Amino acid sequence: MTVTRLTLDLDALARNFAVLRDTAGVEAAPAIKADGYGIGALEAALRLWDEGARSFHVARLTEGEAVRAALGDRQATIYLLDGPTPGSQARLRAADLTPVINSLDQAAAWDGPAVLHIDTGMNRLGLTAAEAATLVDRPDVVLVMSHLACAGQPGHPMNALQLDRFRAVRALFPHARASLASSGGIFLGRDYAFDQVRPGISLFGGGPHDRPDARITTVATLEAAILQVRHVPAGETIGYARAFTAERDLTVGILAAGYADGVPWSAHPGGSVWFEGALRRMVGRVSMDMIAVDLTGCAAARPGEMVELLGANLPVDDAARAAGTTAYELLTRLSSRAERRFVSRT
Ligand SMILES: *Cc1c(COP(=O)(O)O)cnc(C)c1O
Repeated sequence: MTVTRLTLDLDALARNFAVLRDTAGVEAAPAIKADGYGIGALEAALRLWDEGARSFHVARLTEGEAVRAALGDRQATIYLLDGPTPGSQARLRAADLTPVINSLDQAAAWDGPAVLHIDTGMNRLGLTAAEAATLVDRPDVVLVMSHLACAGQPGHPMNALQLDRFRAVRALFPHARASLASSGGIFLGRDYAFDQVRPGISLFGGGPHDRPDARITTVATLEAAILQVRHVPAGETIGYARAFTAERDLTVGILAAGYADGVPWSAHPGGSVWFEGALRRMVGRVSMDMIAVDLTGCAAARPGEMVELLGANLPVDDAARAAGTTAYELLTRLSSRAERRFVSRT
């Protein structure tokens, strides 16, 4: 019997890809770093290829190698966001990865087809405008990109500022394609689309603006079985450190999922699960293997019943917010202990 189950809906992934691509109106190159946001980079790459994706972004060299191997003889472009890190050149060529040039040192270390990453204000990776200007004569720049710091906040003035700065540098490379928008940027308007968008989180079910969004479909559903149902009298405490006290007599379900499965420790006291048509609060600290939830009044509360911790009824953005984190962190921390099941009707 499966007690902790992670269901990954590849049809929903395909639907989200179509929404993001059609909203942008240009090529969508999926960001499938961190094992496809915890969903499964290889399964995602293969399905997205079938949906028409022809380029992908990953962060690490090992991720790029794994995606290249999974794609076999499919001629995809795989961009490596880390760029040509010291000593990686032979492996970049062997796996036919297109590195993103983040600094002048990286520019000097690589002489094949490359992406220039322009820093337009995030101050993370990337070339300054002045540094980029020194590379205008490189014939092998295939793409010029930048990354928005506040794409999740549509009204933020930083978005327009970064757009202006990107346009100025982009004009120096008229023969290269250009890419600025991640999931959030896609919904800022077509001005932000350029030639290619790079959606990540919204492919995998997170809203583009850090909250549930009706245009995006749930991909990951995490469910756990009830291991035991117990009566907890008023005044008793539940779990480690006695962090919760029953304010009245409660019926409590002990679920087979804990922080080792990816339920954040910080989900108590704010977090909930979905059972019998409603949200049910967590009562007591999240343990390694278990959580306790208030199932008082639930007729179906019995061992073996499955409870939803993440899914269509409990969007990843809401679950993340309740735990003081983001959909990005929640998804990438889903662990391999839960039994994974990919579903698809096509
Ligand atoms: C992760 C990443 C993306 C995807 O961002 P989302 O917000 O997940 O859509 C796009 N571009 C770069 C450079 C990234 O690092």
